[in-house]
Amino acid sequence: MLDPRVSRDIRVQDVTMVYHSHGDSVIALERVNMHVPTGQFASIIGPSGCGKSTLLRLIADILQPHSGQVTLGSDTPRAARHDHALGFVFQSPTLLPWRTVRQNVELPLDVAGRDSTRRSARSTDELIELVGLKGFEKALPHQLSGGMQQRVAIARALVLTPDVLLLDEPFGALDEITRQRMNIEMLRIWAESGTTALLVTHSIGEAIFMSDQVYVMSARPGRIVSVVDVPLPRPRTLDMMRSHVFFDCVNRVRDGLFGKEESTSAMSRPQAAEAY
Ligand code: ADP
Repeated sequence: MLDPRVSRDIRVQDVTMVYHSHGDSVIALERVNMHVPTGQFASIIGPSGCGKSTLLRLIADILQPHSGQVTLGSDTPRAARHDHALGFVFQSPTLLPWRTVRQNVELPLDVAGRDSTRRSARSTDELIELVGLKGFEKALPHQLSGGMQQRVAIARALVLTPDVLLLDEPFGALDEITRQRMNIEMLRIWAESGTTALLVTHSIGEAIFMSDQVYVMSARPGRIVSVVDVPLPRPRTLDMMRSHVFFDCVNRVRDGLFGKEESTSAMSRPQAAEAY
């Protein structure tokens, strides 16, 4: 087991975000509210441009909201970031090309200082094995496939055992089989660590399989249109994706995404399976 540690909830209150560029204003998010309880796993799903990445970046202190507030536990995102309590996996792996796999995974330790009070509970070797890269410790990023590079990024995000783990479509570049394996591995790591996790994904099935709640967003301006609770037990197994509960969740997410009329809410199970 990883170190038991105090995790943090994620609270987004009435957040509006406006971008200004070339004299134009884009309302990327309008009065967004969200609460991910401590230690839970939530996903955000919505059409391209609905503000998913913006929301994740506000939570990560990469952007500041126009109005409203974000808190992680009792802290601002900035304070949480300074406490090394945030892990972030981006859509692309953003590895340093001159550092080996091991050195990339250990980068946050070097930045934070190895004597940092927030220590890693899992060794680098364990993390590298966990993401399926045993034997590649000395490889450089250009020697790895895109999927393998993303695994390095996931291990790197976990090395400081974050309280809050933000995942911006981290599995989008992986083939379907690897992706499902990574989903299961990620859930195991999450369950052991007590981390509060928030995933952005385009996949309805992935969102439901991973999450306690799925936040469904609409575009322009980005708003939360529905929150779907996923009553599947944990640990999750792949055969749960054949269950009535799973397909009911698929239909409810589709209702949020496409509206009840358009979404074939009375879809049969094979049709719903195709949707995934
Ligand atoms: P998503 O992740 O859901 O695809 P984004 O958060 O990337 O959406 O973008 C939300 C909206 O904000 C889009 O309309 C996008 O064009 C706009 N946007 C994102 N970043 C910027 C920026 N730096 N400047 C201006 N507009 C932006």
